[in-house]
Amino acid sequence: MTELRIDLARLRANVRAVAERVAPAALLVVVKDDAYGHGVEPVVAAALDERVSWFGAIDVPSAARAKAAAGERARVFCWATLPEEAVAGALDAGLELGVGDAGYLERVARIASGRGAAAPVHLKIDTGLHRNGVRPEEWPSFTARAAALERDGAIRVVGLWSHISEASDAEDDLSRAVFEEAGRVALDAGLRPDVRHLAASAAAWHRPAFRGDLVRIGAFCYGVRSAGDDDIPGVAPAASLVADVVGIGAEGVEIGVGWLDGVFSTLAGRIEVGTPAGARTLLDVAETTSTVASWPGAAVGDKVVVFGPGTTGEWTPTSVGEAAGTVGEEPLLRLSPLIPRVHVD
Ligand SMILES: *Cc1c(COP(=O)(O)O)cnc(C)c1O
Repeated sequence: MTELRIDLARLRANVRAVAERVAPAALLVVVKDDAYGHGVEPVVAAALDERVSWFGAIDVPSAARAKAAAGERARVFCWATLPEEAVAGALDAGLELGVGDAGYLERVARIASGRGAAAPVHLKIDTGLHRNGVRPEEWPSFTARAAALERDGAIRVVGLWSHISEASDAEDDLSRAVFEEAGRVALDAGLRPDVRHLAASAAAWHRPAFRGDLVRIGAFCYGVRSAGDDDIPGVAPAASLVADVVGIGAEGVEIGVGWLDGVFSTLAGRIEVGTPAGARTLLDVAETTSTVASWPGAAVGDKVVVFGPGTTGEWTPTSVGEAAGTVGEEPLLRLSPLIPRVHVD
């Protein structure tokens, strides 16, 4: 069977390296999109073994699965602005909600009041990315309103947060200044959040000033490094993609893996996969199959490693993503969910 093989010992080592690097800030392991394709439940279990006490996802399904797996051992943050009908379910699931919009704040408060329990919320300031969040000029009235709703018992402001581009240090510095000022305004409004969080993998790893109380890290926990980061000590890919040979053709050997997205057709001729006879060029990528340059004695059922240990030069999700002109998360996120995830320990 073609499979995405996930090395849980490697995953735990990554989590440990990241947690040590960012301490004393706490680590929130991001598990959006089914834990970057690795499978929410095994990732949560591995992270809990490393005493991680926060998880987060944009989507309710991944976040709710993380909460169900972790129970009281972890808090789980869900940051999508949810449609009206999804809010009660998310609160029932025990999730803490990201709120970056005045209308959404009112909806969450109204729904929580109806249920008779304060909704835990993390208020989001837009520090320049313009991807949802309350604009700085509206922040004083927004936080004043949140404080009033908190006094009414409708919400509890447990966090302040934002997201930064991590593309330019100068821009990120400006964002951090806006974030810190927003924290002072929130304090003046009477809010006493447990945590403030701004950074994802790259800023949390490289820039201590960005860590705050909590960092939200996905990529580095899975061993996916960002563009420009050649080596993150202690961190290596946890997933390898191992495909079966499913046919022998005149053009080459057909393997049972492809990507639905056209992005990966550009991999043709650009990467080498590991075959029983050594490295061979990937000749073509289709939706559910790909073609590899042939080798003597190739047979149906042979195993071919597309990325992970066993490829020449150790192709990784990041280097495969870069070869296709995209980032290292994409070869994982766009892989068909029908390909089994096999967790080995
Ligand atoms: C995806 C995401 C993260 C994690 O980013 P990585 O670069 O994978 O660590 C953090 N915060 C938000 C809001 C995200 O969407």
